[in-house]
Amino acid sequence: MSDSQIEAIVRGCTDFSIPDYQLAALAMAVFFRGMNREEVTSLTRHIVGSGDTLDWTGLDKPVVDKHSTGGIGDKISLVLAPLLAARGMAVPMISGRGLGATGGTLDKLESIPGFSVNLDLEQISRVVRETGCVIAGASSRIAPADKRLYALRDVTATVPSIPLITGSILGKKLAEGLDALVLDVKFGSGAFMKSLDDASQLARSLVSVARELGVPTTALLTDMNQPNGSMVGNANELNEAVEVLQGKGPADVRELTLELAVELAVLSESDSDFNRKQCRNEFARLIDSGAAMESFLKMVHAQGGRWTGPIPCAPAHPVTASQAGWVASINAEELGWIIIELRGGRTRLEDTIDHSTGIAMNVRVGDKVEIGQPLANILCNSDDFTRVAGRLRDAIALVPEETRPLTLICERIA
Ligand code: URA
Repeated sequence: MSDSQIEAIVRGCTDFSIPDYQLAALAMAVFFRGMNREEVTSLTRHIVGSGDTLDWTGLDKPVVDKHSTGGIGDKISLVLAPLLAARGMAVPMISGRGLGATGGTLDKLESIPGFSVNLDLEQISRVVRETGCVIAGASSRIAPADKRLYALRDVTATVPSIPLITGSILGKKLAEGLDALVLDVKFGSGAFMKSLDDASQLARSLVSVARELGVPTTALLTDMNQPNGSMVGNANELNEAVEVLQGKGPADVRELTLELAVELAVLSESDSDFNRKQCRNEFARLIDSGAAMESFLKMVHAQGGRWTGPIPCAPAHPVTASQAGWVASINAEELGWIIIELRGGRTRLEDTIDHSTGIAMNVRVGDKVEIGQPLANILCNSDDFTRVAGRLRDAIALVPEETRPLTLICERIA
């Protein structure tokens, strides 16, 4: 298709002059036949142009963001946005609700009493200018063509198409008016892309289209065959992210946050004597000195939230190992479905969620466990525990021979 044909389709999608059945047919054709790189770039550019873009005139800071393709226990945004703000970057992070088995950053933030994710573009701009970062939901003025096309893809089983995913993700992200973007493209049992190969193809498509459209971008391919950190849920994940902001918390969450932060510094500040190791140490110091936590508290306050300390969670019930051995694998997607069963996630958009439920994992792949050892705690009431305990035990595979820990960051695509 030519650029002008794609432009006409996106216009017809936005103003509803093209009916649903024709757009659904187009999604199906792209799903089966693919698109070449020029077509994907054109589609993305016109999706961005279908709505408003944020304007950072007069702001003397690099405007940056991260997008994750979604995973279980993925709380990185909650740490990364304030960390970047503490370094003097501006982060207009437009984020989502849970999708399938994966939780949503917005739902996690709404565990904080009073916190509002429903900001209009003027409020987003004001909070970023005042505090350095914002995490809010997509306004209907951002990439409206994607909103309609995504809804049609969802009901026609055409979501898993790399050209359409590229247009959809970047259509929204590039409307933020960014100077640099980093992508956390996850693969494995708890990710949208199950294989490293598929994740790599998606990452390459996203990086090359974003760059073609003038936004310096890199991607990290990261392993989602176990949760990020120990906590999966909403309030418990938020509490864990705050622990990381306080210089504590799980090492993998800190590690991935620091690596993504360095990528954005490389892209937006890089000069000839840029030193990655030094930059990483500087970000680590921003956490350990309390500066990143201070940015987080400013953002929470600016978005109406009242942070008085860790958010209370439901009672913890242990799930114990029925045999000794080594953890060979964790079905991370199943953990996500268990959270949904505990009403910590949605099956329908209109469902309300219980932020207090969750899973606190005690083991990771490669750990040795003894019979009777608690593998995890389920945070819920006792009746729900009885229903899901067996599912959680089955999701953690133990084998008699020693297993190896997973490597979190597998590849960098620049
Ligand atoms: N997330 C998006 O925003 N769009 C897709 O197409 C898939 C995941």
